[in-house]
Amino acid sequence: MDKNIRFIDLHVHLDGSLPVRTVRRLAEMQGIDTGAADDEQLKKRLQVSSGCRDLNEYLTKFDFPLELLQTPEALELAVYELMKLQDSQGLIYSEIRFAPQLHTRKQMTQRDAVKAALRGRERFLSENSRNGDGFCSNSAAGSLSGCRTGLLSNLILCCMRGDGNDDENYETLNAAGEFFDREGGVVAVDLAGAEGLYPTRRYEKLFERAARMGLPFTIHAGEAAGAESVRLAVRFGAKRIGHGINSVQDDELMRMLAAEGVTLELCPTSNLNTRVVDNILDYPVQRLIDAGVKVTINTDNMTVSNTDIRHEMKLLCDAFGYGDDVCKMFLINSAEAAFVTEEIKDRFLYEGK
Ligand SMILES: [Zn+2]
Repeated sequence: MDKNIRFIDLHVHLDGSLPVRTVRRLAEMQGIDTGAADDEQLKKRLQVSSGCRDLNEYLTKFDFPLELLQTPEALELAVYELMKLQDSQGLIYSEIRFAPQLHTRKQMTQRDAVKAALRGRERFLSENSRNGDGFCSNSAAGSLSGCRTGLLSNLILCCMRGDGNDDENYETLNAAGEFFDREGGVVAVDLAGAEGLYPTRRYEKLFERAARMGLPFTIHAGEAAGAESVRLAVRFGAKRIGHGINSVQDDELMRMLAAEGVTLELCPTSNLNTRVVDNILDYPVQRLIDAGVKVTINTDNMTVSNTDIRHEMKLLCDAFGYGDDVCKMFLINSAEAAFVTEEIKDRFLYEGK
């Protein structure tokens, strides 16, 4: 793979992607014991083991990071450090997602949590002397040469599958509505959590509301549940699907995804961890491409899955003999599916060349 190739990550969870050194720092700041003598041990604690059985077990790996992310200072630092890491990995754009309702155990409201995350984003962008939108001033797409460009990130707010949290999910939509800005900030909402336990059909009213509010959304679907879950998410109005890998069970659904231009956010290592597939050679990425479905490659949880975007690309390149042209196609799909304005998408396409 070309070492100068640029990346976009549209599906990356903040709590599952904290750099190990940031976890240590957050624990020290708050006097919380990591239970680990060194970084190697701490990494093990944060990572899924090779014996992981399914998504439900995978989700237990978020308990400790979430414990550390209950103050505004911690959330701000977490977003800032994740952006720094992604910048160093050659990303030009990421949409970092988190569930504000999981950060209200102490004094924060969901609104406070979103504001803290936005501060982390703004701090990174201002320190890297970009102009809010992550690009140099007066940089029309054709005149970027000589201008230092780097990572831009936006936020996606996750509602959560679960019992008894309807009010919290509506509060998340309200926070998203307040801070929504396709030019930079909160750009969309999502539905995350245990798909096998809490089926997508329960969330129809929630997404009716999101659509009425004009919020774009992606939904985790077709990961722990089958094609029907994806079909419902698209019917609700999702423009993107988190994972959606089980769409291959249904040819008619794949035709629909292609016809409607719905983009899948594939996360290969995560799907191996949660046993959606047992072997990368069985990963149905080519079947989706052949069916005309737009697919993107993403990390999901860099720390939990011990991965990064380059590793995800390499995994597929090695397994299926893909070259840089296919990596470019993934990048173009990601740029086109980003929850930003057409003008910003054009800049990604230019930068990704
Ligand atoms: Zn995810």
